[in-house]
Amino acid sequence: MKYMDAHVHLKNRNDEVLDVNALLKEMDSAEIEKVFLMPATSKLEDNEMMLEAIKGHEDRFIPFAFMNPYHPDCVERFRRYVCENGVKGLKLHPVIDAYPADRAYMLDPLLTICDEYHLHCIMHCTSDAPNSSPLQAERTARRWPKVTFQLAHMGGCWLADDAIKVCLRNDNIYLDGSTVSLSAVKRAVKACPDKFLMGTDIPFYHFEMEKLKMRLAADDECTLDKIMGGNMQALIEERGWQI
Ligand SMILES: [Zn+2]
Repeated sequence: MKYMDAHVHLKNRNDEVLDVNALLKEMDSAEIEKVFLMPATSKLEDNEMMLEAIKGHEDRFIPFAFMNPYHPDCVERFRRYVCENGVKGLKLHPVIDAYPADRAYMLDPLLTICDEYHLHCIMHCTSDAPNSSPLQAERTARRWPKVTFQLAHMGGCWLADDAIKVCLRNDNIYLDGSTVSLSAVKRAVKACPDKFLMGTDIPFYHFEMEKLKMRLAADDECTLDKIMGGNMQALIEERGWQI
Protein backbone atom coordinates (compact mmCIF):
# COMPACT_ATOMS: atom_id res chain seq x y z
CA MET A 1 0.00 0.00 0.00
CA LYS A 2 1.35 3.38 -0.80
CA TYR A 3 -1.28 5.96 -1.70
CA MET A 4 -3.60 8.12 0.39
CA ASP A 5 -6.84 9.84 -0.56
CA ALA A 6 -8.07 12.95 1.24
CA HIS A 7 -11.68 12.99 0.01
CA VAL A 8 -13.88 9.88 0.27
CA HIS A 9 -17.55 9.55 1.25
CA LEU A 10 -19.24 6.47 2.65
CA LYS A 11 -22.21 6.23 0.28
CA ASN A 12 -23.57 3.73 -2.20
CA ARG A 13 -22.69 4.31 -5.85
CA ASN A 14 -26.06 4.47 -7.65
CA ASP A 15 -27.35 0.85 -7.44
CA GLU A 16 -24.00 -0.51 -6.29
CA VAL A 17 -23.55 -1.10 -2.56
CA LEU A 18 -20.41 0.68 -1.41
CA ASP A 19 -20.26 -0.20 2.27
CA VAL A 20 -17.06 -0.35 4.30
CA ASN A 21 -16.15 -3.84 3.05
CA ALA A 22 -16.69 -2.92 -0.62
CA LEU A 23 -14.76 0.29 -0.11
CA LEU A 24 -11.87 -1.58 1.50
CA LYS A 25 -11.79 -3.89 -1.55
CA GLU A 26 -11.58 -0.88 -3.91
CA MET A 27 -8.88 0.65 -1.71
CA ASP A 28 -6.87 -2.59 -1.69
CA SER A 29 -7.00 -3.04 -5.44
CA ALA A 30 -5.98 0.61 -5.99
CA GLU A 31 -3.24 0.39 -3.31
CA ILE A 32 -4.87 3.11 -1.23
CA GLU A 33 -3.60 2.80 2.33
CA LYS A 34 -5.66 5.45 4.15
CA VAL A 35 -8.45 7.86 3.36
CA PHE A 36 -10.10 10.86 4.96
CA LEU A 37 -13.65 9.48 5.23
CA MET A 38 -16.85 11.47 5.65
CA PRO A 39 -20.56 10.87 5.21
CA ALA A 40 -22.33 12.27 2.14
CA THR A 41 -24.58 14.58 4.15
CA SER A 42 -24.69 16.31 7.51
CA LYS A 43 -27.66 14.20 8.65
CA LEU A 44 -27.30 12.69 12.10
CA GLU A 45 -27.99 9.16 10.83
CA ASP A 46 -25.31 9.37 8.11
CA ASN A 47 -22.66 10.44 10.63
CA GLU A 48 -23.64 7.79 13.17
CA MET A 49 -23.81 5.06 10.51
CA MET A 50 -20.30 5.89 9.28
CA LEU A 51 -18.80 5.96 12.77
CA GLU A 52 -20.37 2.59 13.59
CA ALA A 53 -19.34 1.03 10.25
CA ILE A 54 -15.64 1.87 10.49
CA LYS A 55 -15.12 0.36 13.94
CA GLY A 56 -12.11 -1.97 13.75
CA HIS A 57 -10.77 -0.26 10.62
CA GLU A 58 -9.30 2.85 12.24
CA ASP A 59 -5.94 2.14 10.55
CA ARG A 60 -7.50 2.72 7.11
CA PHE A 61 -10.27 5.27 7.68
CA ILE A 62 -9.61 8.68 9.24
CA PRO A 63 -13.11 9.90 10.15
CA PHE A 64 -14.51 13.38 9.57
CA ALA A 65 -17.88 14.47 10.95
CA PHE A 66 -20.10 16.31 8.46
CA MET A 67 -21.75 19.01 10.54
CA ASN A 68 -24.44 21.56 9.75
CA PRO A 69 -23.99 24.70 11.88
CA TYR A 70 -27.78 25.27 11.73
CA HIS A 71 -28.41 22.09 13.77
CA PRO A 72 -29.02 23.24 17.35
CA ASP A 73 -27.04 20.36 18.89
CA CYS A 74 -24.14 20.42 16.40
CA VAL A 75 -21.50 21.68 18.84
CA GLU A 76 -22.22 19.13 21.58
CA ARG A 77 -22.49 16.35 19.01
CA PHE A 78 -19.24 17.30 17.26
CA ARG A 79 -17.40 17.40 20.59
CA ARG A 80 -18.78 13.96 21.42
CA TYR A 81 -17.67 12.57 18.05
CA VAL A 82 -14.16 13.93 18.64
CA CYS A 83 -13.84 12.77 22.25
CA GLU A 84 -15.65 9.43 22.03
CA ASN A 85 -15.39 8.32 18.39
CA GLY A 86 -11.91 9.46 17.38
CA VAL A 87 -13.13 11.93 14.75
CA LYS A 88 -10.16 13.89 13.42
CA GLY A 89 -11.87 16.67 11.58
CA LEU A 90 -14.84 18.65 10.44
CA LYS A 91 -16.52 18.53 7.02
CA LEU A 92 -18.41 21.71 6.10
CA HIS A 93 -20.57 22.18 3.00
CA PRO A 94 -21.72 25.80 2.69
CA VAL A 95 -23.66 25.02 -0.52
CA ILE A 96 -25.70 21.97 0.55
CA ASP A 97 -26.35 23.34 4.04
CA ALA A 98 -26.85 26.93 2.82
CA TYR A 99 -24.60 29.32 4.77
CA PRO A 100 -21.71 31.59 3.75
CA ALA A 101 -18.25 30.03 4.17
CA ASP A 102 -17.14 33.11 6.12
CA ARG A 103 -20.13 33.40 8.50
CA ALA A 104 -18.03 33.58 11.66
CA TYR A 105 -20.77 33.48 14.27
CA MET A 106 -22.12 30.24 12.81
CA LEU A 107 -18.79 28.48 12.30
CA ASP A 108 -16.78 29.65 15.32
CA PRO A 109 -18.38 27.26 17.83
CA LEU A 110 -17.39 24.25 15.68
CA LEU A 111 -13.98 25.67 14.79
CA THR A 112 -13.27 26.31 18.47
CA ILE A 113 -13.34 22.53 18.92
CA CYS A 114 -11.05 22.07 15.88
CA ASP A 115 -8.64 24.56 17.44
CA GLU A 116 -8.77 22.89 20.84
CA TYR A 117 -8.12 19.34 19.53
CA HIS A 118 -5.76 20.19 16.63
CA LEU A 119 -8.22 19.01 13.98
CA HIS A 120 -8.46 19.50 10.20
CA CYS A 121 -11.41 21.11 8.40
CA ILE A 122 -12.48 19.99 4.92
CA MET A 123 -14.56 22.79 3.43
CA HIS A 124 -16.47 22.44 0.16
CA CYS A 125 -15.17 25.26 -2.06
CA THR A 126 -16.66 25.77 -5.51
CA SER A 127 -17.86 28.43 -7.92
CA ASP A 128 -21.40 27.08 -8.45
CA ALA A 129 -22.88 29.18 -5.63
CA PRO A 130 -22.08 32.63 -4.21
CA ASN A 131 -21.31 31.38 -0.69
CA SER A 132 -18.38 28.96 -1.03
CA SER A 133 -15.54 30.79 -2.75
CA PRO A 134 -11.83 30.46 -1.91
CA LEU A 135 -11.76 34.08 -0.66
CA GLN A 136 -14.62 33.37 1.75
CA ALA A 137 -12.88 30.22 2.95
CA GLU A 138 -9.68 32.23 3.41
CA ARG A 139 -11.47 34.73 5.67
CA THR A 140 -12.46 31.84 7.93
CA ALA A 141 -9.04 30.16 7.76
CA ARG A 142 -7.31 33.40 8.78
CA ARG A 143 -9.41 33.62 11.93
CA TRP A 144 -8.23 30.11 12.92
CA PRO A 145 -4.50 29.90 12.13
CA LYS A 146 -3.96 26.76 14.20
CA VAL A 147 -6.65 24.81 12.30
CA THR A 148 -5.70 23.38 8.88
CA PHE A 149 -8.26 23.85 6.10
CA GLN A 150 -8.62 21.72 2.98
CA LEU A 151 -10.44 23.50 0.15
CA ALA A 152 -12.32 20.57 -1.39
CA HIS A 153 -12.61 20.98 -5.19
CA MET A 154 -10.27 24.00 -4.90
CA GLY A 155 -12.74 26.55 -6.23
CA GLY A 156 -14.45 24.34 -8.81
CA CYS A 157 -14.67 25.27 -12.48
CA TRP A 158 -14.05 28.98 -12.29
CA LEU A 159 -12.16 29.84 -9.10
CA ALA A 160 -9.18 27.47 -9.13
CA ASP A 161 -6.70 30.32 -9.49
CA ASP A 162 -8.18 32.08 -6.43
CA ALA A 163 -7.81 28.79 -4.53
CA ILE A 164 -4.15 28.56 -5.57
CA LYS A 165 -3.55 32.16 -4.44
CA VAL A 166 -5.05 31.63 -1.00
CA CYS A 167 -3.12 28.35 -0.61
CA LEU A 168 0.12 30.16 -1.42
CA ARG A 169 -0.42 32.97 1.09
CA ASN A 170 -1.81 30.95 4.03
CA ASP A 171 0.22 28.18 5.67
CA ASN A 172 -2.92 26.51 7.02
CA ILE A 173 -4.73 26.17 3.66
CA TYR A 174 -4.44 22.97 1.59
CA LEU A 175 -6.09 22.04 -1.72
CA ASP A 176 -7.75 18.86 -2.93
CA GLY A 177 -8.33 18.47 -6.64
CA SER A 178 -11.41 16.24 -6.56
CA THR A 179 -13.74 16.90 -9.54
CA VAL A 180 -11.35 19.59 -10.79
CA SER A 181 -10.02 19.82 -14.36
CA LEU A 182 -6.60 18.44 -15.20
CA SER A 183 -5.35 21.87 -16.29
CA ALA A 184 -6.32 23.48 -12.97
CA VAL A 185 -4.81 20.57 -11.03
CA LYS A 186 -1.57 20.96 -12.99
CA ARG A 187 -1.37 24.65 -12.03
CA ALA A 188 -2.10 23.83 -8.38
CA VAL A 189 0.49 21.05 -8.21
CA LYS A 190 3.12 23.29 -9.76
CA ALA A 191 2.33 26.22 -7.43
CA CYS A 192 1.71 24.28 -4.19
CA PRO A 193 3.44 20.88 -4.46
CA ASP A 194 3.61 20.50 -0.66
CA LYS A 195 -0.02 21.34 0.08
CA PHE A 196 -1.91 19.55 -2.70
CA LEU A 197 -3.79 16.39 -1.67
CA MET A 198 -5.18 13.69 -3.98
CA GLY A 199 -8.95 13.46 -3.48
CA THR A 200 -11.23 11.15 -5.44
CA ASP A 201 -14.69 12.07 -4.11
CA ILE A 202 -15.78 8.43 -3.96
CA PRO A 203 -18.52 7.29 -4.71
CA PHE A 204 -18.81 9.82 -7.53
CA TYR A 205 -15.47 8.86 -9.12
CA HIS A 206 -12.96 6.00 -8.95
CA PHE A 207 -9.51 5.81 -7.39
CA GLU A 208 -7.90 4.80 -10.68
CA MET A 209 -9.26 7.91 -12.45
CA GLU A 210 -7.78 10.20 -9.85
CA LYS A 211 -4.46 8.33 -9.77
CA LEU A 212 -4.17 8.82 -13.54
CA LYS A 213 -4.99 12.52 -13.14
CA MET A 214 -2.20 12.84 -10.55
CA ARG A 215 0.29 11.09 -12.87
CA LEU A 216 -0.61 13.47 -15.69
CA ALA A 217 -0.40 16.50 -13.40
CA ALA A 218 3.00 15.87 -11.76
CA ASP A 219 6.24 16.58 -13.60
CA ASP A 220 8.42 14.25 -11.54
CA GLU A 221 8.29 11.23 -9.20
CA CYS A 222 9.08 13.26 -6.09
CA THR A 223 6.08 15.55 -6.64
CA LEU A 224 3.91 12.55 -7.50
CA ASP A 225 4.81 10.84 -4.20
CA LYS A 226 3.89 14.02 -2.31
CA ILE A 227 0.50 14.58 -3.90
CA MET A 228 -0.52 10.91 -3.83
CA GLY A 229 0.18 10.41 -0.14
CA GLY A 230 3.29 12.16 1.19
CA ASN A 231 1.54 15.46 1.83
CA MET A 232 -1.38 13.75 3.57
CA GLN A 233 1.01 11.77 5.79
CA ALA A 234 2.92 14.97 6.60
CA LEU A 235 -0.37 16.67 7.51
CA ILE A 236 -1.32 13.76 9.79
CA GLU A 237 2.07 14.03 11.50
CA GLU A 238 1.85 17.83 11.73
CA ARG A 239 -1.57 17.50 13.40
CA GLY A 240 0.00 15.07 15.88
CA TRP A 241 -2.58 12.32 15.33
CA GLN A 242 -1.63 8.81 16.42
CA ILE A 243 -2.82 6.73 13.45
ZN1 LIG B 1 -17.22 15.19 -1.72
